[in-house]
Amino acid sequence: EARALTKHFPVRGLRGRGKAVRAVESVDLTLRRGQVVALVGESGSGKSTVARLLAQLYPATSGQVLLRGEPVKVRFGRRFRAYCRQVQMIFQDPFASLNPIHTVRYVLTRSLRIHHRGLSKEELETRLAGLLEQVHLRPAERYIDKFPHELSGGQRQRIAIARALGARPTVLLADEPVSMLDVSIRLGVLNLLKELKEELDLAILYITHDIASARYFADRTVVMYAGEVVESGDSESVTQNPAHPYTQLLVSSAPDPDKLADAAERPARGEPPSLIKPPSGCRFHPRCPFAMDRCKTESPPSLPAGDGRVAACWLYAEGVEKPAGLEVKA
Ligand code: SF4
Ligand code: MG
Repeated sequence: EARALTKHFPVRGLRGRGKAVRAVESVDLTLRRGQVVALVGESGSGKSTVARLLAQLYPATSGQVLLRGEPVKVRFGRRFRAYCRQVQMIFQDPFASLNPIHTVRYVLTRSLRIHHRGLSKEELETRLAGLLEQVHLRPAERYIDKFPHELSGGQRQRIAIARALGARPTVLLADEPVSMLDVSIRLGVLNLLKELKEELDLAILYITHDIASARYFADRTVVMYAGEVVESGDSESVTQNPAHPYTQLLVSSAPDPDKLADAAERPARGEPPSLIKPPSGCRFHPRCPFAMDRCKTESPPSLPAGDGRVAACWLYAEGVEKPAGLEVKA
């Protein structure tokens, strides 16, 4: 669970003195076992930073990360190691995340050894074969002594998943796990993750810029814009009936797989703002077709937007009349 998680990166160099990139601003997020949560947004919206904060790859500027209600307070010691075992990360680029000089056996053995000391030789062999079986690389002998360059992108990503499973995690943070893979094999990897979620009762955070895949793969969807969460709810309603004007823009500009619409037919998307000096009030107001006066000065709170969704948008404040063109079935 993330509570008011915030990350500001100081800008280096003379001209950057005193400035910071406000990458993540007060993000709340809850993952549950047996559930996939999609974190959706454009590149630079802060989604990878959220995952890295949850994985404790760097400390938060403020806010908290909790596991089963227990805050992670320090980044060292036995309890911290136990946290890192439980919360594993899968990265976007399976070519960069596996060391080219290490065989599959080495990669998986190391994961098993780091996380589970004192395994006998036989136990290790059994676990190795079990991990490959779990990610459907069978027979194990065919893959165990291969180097990364002898494997396809999809097979490498399966090894990265097996490496994560070696720790016996309860939480998987998957940062764009299929975006660098061939379209034809993406579904196979997502289906594998779905299957592992069921089998191992995992909590999965699925980070993606592709809101259409969130609908297929995730139980809940959280949308980020410029470092902030703008909408969350169950995937079906967020992706089919988005409440926040930004989510509406994302959905309407996503390529429709049935029509393969021309890029020219899609609405102009504009540019995400600078996070060194983000727009005042609602960070989306310079791009929002419904922006009102207060949007420019006051940051909107999270408000119920019907259908169990929550949206950070003044249109859902009490007494605000919904403008024509905001197509939301509450
Ligand atoms: Fe648009 Fe205002 Fe809602 Fe922001 S708060 S999304 S500017 S209507
Ligand atoms: Mg990213």
